[in-house]
Amino acid sequence: ARQFFVGGNFKMNGTKESVAQIIDNLNKAELPSAVQVVVAPPAPYISVAVAENKQKTVEVSAQNVFDKASGAYTGEISPNQVLDLGAKWTLTGHSERRTIIKESDEFIAEKTKFALEQGLSVILCIGETLEERKSGVTLDVTARQLDAVSKIVSDWTNIVVAYEPVWAIGTGLAATPEDAQETHKGIRAHLAKTIGEKQAAEVRILYGGSVNGKNAVEFKDKADVDGFLVGGASLKPEFVDIIKSRL
Ligand code: 13P
Repeated sequence: ARQFFVGGNFKMNGTKESVAQIIDNLNKAELPSAVQVVVAPPAPYISVAVAENKQKTVEVSAQNVFDKASGAYTGEISPNQVLDLGAKWTLTGHSERRTIIKESDEFIAEKTKFALEQGLSVILCIGETLEERKSGVTLDVTARQLDAVSKIVSDWTNIVVAYEPVWAIGTGLAATPEDAQETHKGIRAHLAKTIGEKQAAEVRILYGGSVNGKNAVEFKDKADVDGFLVGGASLKPEFVDIIKSRL
């Protein structure tokens, strides 16, 4: 069975104090031992989160990395540096980086490959825009985004896929559990063809986009929804409710 996974993406929010506060909230909560939790604070606060965290089931992630170990790449952060700070994960391919920073499928794939090689686990984010959904190409878009990675990465053991439809991110308009399930099933079926049945059956596929403490339970019986990647609500106490939503 795939272990339930809840990620918190703080995006470009917070201060030393507020990040420590969020981690402290998690420390005080009785978190289910069967749920894997990963929090991604802004890079300057990774060490704050690592130092503050006392929960065995909670790990820390970067939101982005570069595809080189070191060198003249002003403003970039290498996977080794993230590991050096005590974080074990990075996100790659978040839609805000795809659309605002204009990262390509290929660049995201290179970062994913390099982060894995350096020893990080990766939450690989994919998802379609509203326009793409309306024209019925959701699974073509997610397939294209995944294929860029499967072309150069064959071992997906340390990858978690996060399906985040762009139209659901920060809009308060989450995908329905039925829609999410249908897309997750399609994603898994596509992965079975590209990375093999076994790996496809084992890879966790998270849903992300306006998940909150209330709607998280509605996804409970959805077979291919293996957890969530949470933005706004991960900054609030209700993040704990999302972590407990499968109990
Ligand atoms: P929201 O939960 O704020 O919609 O953001 C989702 C997201 O982008 C997580 O990576």
